Amino acid sequence: MSGGLEVKNGFCIITSMASIKARHYATGTGYEVILQDGEISALSYLFAGGREFPFVAPGLVDLQVNGYGGMEFNDPALTSEKVRKIALAMDQDGVVEFCPTFTTADHALLRHSIRTVADTIESDADVARRCQHLHLEGPFISAEDGPRGAHPQTHVRPPCWDEFQQLQEAARGRIKILTMSPEYDGSPQFIGKIVDSGVVVAIGHTSASSDQIAAAVDAGASMSTHLGNGAHGTIRRHPNYLWDQIAEDRLTCSLIADGHHLPAAVVKTVVRAKSVERCVLVSDITGMGGMPPGIYESTAGLGKVEVLDDGRLVVPGQRQLLAGAALPIGVGIVKAMEYAELPLESAVNMASLGPARIVGYRLPKLEVGTRADLVFFDIIDGQFEVVATVNAGEIVYLKDS
Ligand SMILES: [Zn+2]
Repeated sequence: MSGGLEVKNGFCIITSMASIKARHYATGTGYEVILQDGEISALSYLFAGGREFPFVAPGLVDLQVNGYGGMEFNDPALTSEKVRKIALAMDQDGVVEFCPTFTTADHALLRHSIRTVADTIESDADVARRCQHLHLEGPFISAEDGPRGAHPQTHVRPPCWDEFQQLQEAARGRIKILTMSPEYDGSPQFIGKIVDSGVVVAIGHTSASSDQIAAAVDAGASMSTHLGNGAHGTIRRHPNYLWDQIAEDRLTCSLIADGHHLPAAVVKTVVRAKSVERCVLVSDITGMGGMPPGIYESTAGLGKVEVLDDGRLVVPGQRQLLAGAALPIGVGIVKAMEYAELPLESAVNMASLGPARIVGYRLPKLEVGTRADLVFFDIIDGQFEVVATVNAGEIVYLKDS
């Protein structure tokens, strides 16, 4: 940022200092937020006004980002430039930290993609401050239709410690979440080793039995990935792997609450049963995120896909079939509030402090003297509209007024 004074969209920016009037997301109280030298240097209570200001909250953290703007992390031709473009694109959605997510593929592709991201994190400070942790979703998942979702069957395989080690080596230790199915023999032992190595094991894309899920949790699995998606279209009423995971208090679940992946009743039921503290929101956004409505050749190798006007990503001609997610995590905040009748604070925490805690990312609360990782936003007509994103004290996104 150059020197001098700039006033834009109600933000007053003086060289390395910015003054922003905003409403606290938990209380609705008006504050003047002063940012200086990367930190919140003052929070001054405003006695008058407030409703006209945007909300301010801890920046959003998305544990599942497959790509954006026509690019995927699962890409044999992935380059540092593409990684940088995806990382910077997160700013406009209020995301200050995200996990690049790698899905089921052959070993060479996974290794290349993971290594490219790890290299970029080490060589590009702008990328490093937006992502530190990687999410490996697969290839150790269920091969069955339904639980497998859109992951290619030919590359699904049972858990293999040596392969995981090779991928973790390519990541230079940055894989922080492994989503897998515990339905394979030896899963508890495998999970125990993974957890001992400091990686969060998430149950997902699974057709595991109740006993297998219980054994996985006893072995250290602590998360359920996009609960309710990556499942059979029809399952036995009970017991089944959904009830087992909902009832297990040692599992925190992620939910894709984009309005398309889960009906309102499911979001409400899961959030009420597990509690807000044990639910986090993810976008699971693919390379079709950020693309205008239209028909595209899928960047994830799914053939032709269509982005509809409402952001729904479908198979052309079969609009009831979802082909992934294309909406940012902020959409989930608004939907979670609506579906589960949550206050704003709870819904935002499910997309910020909650996911940050899972990967051990130190996302500060709104306090003087803490690093400024913030999102300023409005909710207008049911839309989550990001006004500004602050990453490590720098305003990295500011909406045109
Ligand atoms: Zn998935």
